[in-house]
Amino acid sequence: MSVIVARPPNFELILKAFPDADKPGVIFAYGDNIYNPSGDPIPPALLAHERIHLGRQKMLAPPSSLSIDAAADHWWIRYVLDAEFRYREELLAHVAEFKAQDNRGLDRNLRAKILQKTAARLCAPLYNYTPPRSMTLAMRDIRWELEKK
Ligand SMILES: [Zn+2]
Repeated sequence: MSVIVARPPNFELILKAFPDADKPGVIFAYGDNIYNPSGDPIPPALLAHERIHLGRQKMLAPPSSLSIDAAADHWWIRYVLDAEFRYREELLAHVAEFKAQDNRGLDRNLRAKILQKTAARLCAPLYNYTPPRSMTLAMRDIRWELEKK
């Protein structure tokens, strides 16, 4: 996996669906790489988030996909078209992002604060969910995922 300071190959598709994708600090998982157009430093927890997307692109690749980029295109089209798929994919990525910050022995209040911030990002306008996902739902789903294992 490499981090590339550029827009991802399918940026036109992404921007049409998510107008906020052009904002500084927004990064993209595609194929084998993380694309970081603004070149801002990427916090380790966000890298953990993007690694989940890269892994899922491979995992969900149809048998017919001829390359890793074809698998990424397939995942992205589904991600753009299907809000529920998008929410579930982001849920998994945000749980990984939370876990990357949740060091053992973290103060309970701080842990709750990080959980709340993670849930707020999960239901952010950036993702254009229709209907919008609520903070309550995002908190519940993250807790549910954390308690799974
Ligand atoms: Zn994501």
